[in-house]
Amino acid sequence: MTDLSLDVPTPPEADGGVWLSCIECENAVAPFDDVVYRCPDCDGLLEARYDDYPDWSEFEGRGVWRYSAALPFESGVSIEEGDTPLYTVPGIEDDLGLADLRVKHEGMNPTGSFKDRGMTVGVKVADELGVGRLACASTGNTSAALACYGTRAGKQVLVLLPAGKVAAGKVAQASLHGAKICEVDGNFDDCLDVVAELANRGEAYLLNSLNPFRLEGQKTIGLEILEQSKAETGAYPDRIALPVGNAGNTAALYKSFRELVAAGAMDESEMPKLTGVQAAGAAPMVEAIENDWNEVQPWDEVETRATAIRIGNPVNAPKALPGIRATGGTAVAVDDDEITDAQRALAREGVGVEPASAASVAGVRKLREAGEISADEHVVCLTTGHLLKDPDAAAAAGSEPVSVPADADGVLDAL
Ligand SMILES: *Cc1c(COP(=O)(O)O)cnc(C)c1O
Ligand SMILES: [Zn+2]
Repeated sequence: MTDLSLDVPTPPEADGGVWLSCIECENAVAPFDDVVYRCPDCDGLLEARYDDYPDWSEFEGRGVWRYSAALPFESGVSIEEGDTPLYTVPGIEDDLGLADLRVKHEGMNPTGSFKDRGMTVGVKVADELGVGRLACASTGNTSAALACYGTRAGKQVLVLLPAGKVAAGKVAQASLHGAKICEVDGNFDDCLDVVAELANRGEAYLLNSLNPFRLEGQKTIGLEILEQSKAETGAYPDRIALPVGNAGNTAALYKSFRELVAAGAMDESEMPKLTGVQAAGAAPMVEAIENDWNEVQPWDEVETRATAIRIGNPVNAPKALPGIRATGGTAVAVDDDEITDAQRALAREGVGVEPASAASVAGVRKLREAGEISADEHVVCLTTGHLLKDPDAAAAAGSEPVSVPADADGVLDAL
């Protein structure tokens, strides 16, 4: 039985007040002695636990490390990640008929996606463990972030990408930051199987979102949204909608809420409703929520223009499904045309995102039109990656250039 309760005594395995706990069998594991990704006893997912959870007064400074009191270390391998804007989008807010709609744009991180928040912590842990080679399977953004943070830490970086299915900007980043890029003849889930085997053989330290420390960094998205919303609107949002691939963010946001409740800094009833959005061609989480299943059934075949969420076997589902349910949230699937429409709507507000990111807005539109989100709600949509990540998708969704002669009248004629 999955147990996400934080109200447990500190075990002898704790190191500096931090340990890893299996969410299935509550086995406690020492965090920094050996490399471990899953429970050695039952193979369940691990979660970081602390002897003490901070309240709002313990946070100071900016960015991810503002929240170091809620992280395993005081500082990490950093290039000033986090502290991303919470934009108003009055046109979409009006169009959807919502009391308040904001966009938390994670594309404004150093490498252009939220993955930086996880890497600043994850690469620090790799340093602590003394490992030399870092690896990930990726739909693109994880590889860009790992290449960037890994090289900054002086590590060798190996990335496995599904051949032909990664957006151009992301491959370019991994390449220039010096990662060894292997294109695998298979999908993301196949890449993850291969990299997991390399990790099990001790050949590389795995920095996929299976790694519990990455989710610690990603928790700071939840903390920032709550702090910014309170400061700018006077209240926490009623709902946070986010794109779901491996469901790491869904799990991380829920963990940020649970820890605040454990610290007495937030009431359980104040947790925003976590609303996961998937592409219709890759929606195993939506299927599990709709059918009230406790586990997802992996999808073998997945397809969507939103390549960052083209995932059939979301590894963090056991942590994320309870989060969606406990907060009173839901999950919804949107098709690729709905995603592109939302990408255009965001772009008209000056917010440039990659396709997967726009899924959050497309999902809120769909739920609003179905009457499942009421007009008085305050909603935050998470946009996970920057427009420039996928220049081909942006160009395809935008308008065609026109050819003109090299004179002013020619340009005016074309208007
Ligand atoms: C990684 C990623 C996602 C998926 O996030 P999960 O935490 O795996 O659910 C969504 N959008 C973008 C742009 C991403 O890079
Ligand atoms: Zn276990």
